[in-house]
Amino acid sequence: MIKIALSFDDGRMDNYVMAKEILEPLQVPATFNITVGYIKKEDKIEKPSDHEPMTIEQLKELSSNTQFEIASHGYEHNNDINNLIRGAIELRKILGLSEIEKIGIVSPRSEFDTSKLSTIIDNFMNNNISYLRVGKRFEKNSFIRKVVRKINRKINIPSLYSWVYNQSNIRKDDNFLIYTAGIIKDNKLKEVKKLIDDAIKNDKSYILTMHSILKANEKFYDDLFTWDYYDFYKLCKYLKKLENDKKIIICKTKDIINGK
Ligand SMILES: [Zn+2]
Repeated sequence: MIKIALSFDDGRMDNYVMAKEILEPLQVPATFNITVGYIKKEDKIEKPSDHEPMTIEQLKELSSNTQFEIASHGYEHNNDINNLIRGAIELRKILGLSEIEKIGIVSPRSEFDTSKLSTIIDNFMNNNISYLRVGKRFEKNSFIRKVVRKINRKINIPSLYSWVYNQSNIRKDDNFLIYTAGIIKDNKLKEVKKLIDDAIKNDKSYILTMHSILKANEKFYDDLFTWDYYDFYKLCKYLKKLENDKKIIICKTKDIINGK
């Protein structure tokens, strides 16, 4: 059975609200990727966005629910290796975890240069980092896929969206790097459903990465990294139906690697 993981970047306040109102009642697991300096509201750091961050207390509350995983998304929102490691160390402190507790890292903007990984992998290992999630790697026809992805953001044909991502999103031979399908405002519900339907057919697991989940009357609703609250609710109901039909397992990012 394939696995589908839902993942939310940055630590935005609306993620907390959505988790309480949608994920907890529906019992949908998810991973929240936290930029530590952002939720500590530190000045003069590289922030992910102008959105209100969730509070430390809200983060701890999510962390105390076994339905959720908390991963690191940098201390600041950039891919400097020391910043990524610092984010993981400081996040453990906030959550009251020991330094040997494994934690995942999610690359800010998914821009980590994986060609550098071999030279710094020991740094990740020595700091008990369990995985590094990066952007989608288009292996075959990568230029064409990128162009089609751009065009399809205007015309929204589900089979095109699925084709763009329909490769080994999560590579079975990797046990450290994880790839992800990013979902932004221009990717419609019907496209994401089609991606999941095809994933089942092709026996491939996916991580669906999102940012803000907001209602139409809320600030930042029109932002490119916002997804509609009610569409997201429908997506969760769809995933739960597939899970009840024993077609998918909804899991956390770390379960994609660790098996379940
Ligand atoms: Zn981010």
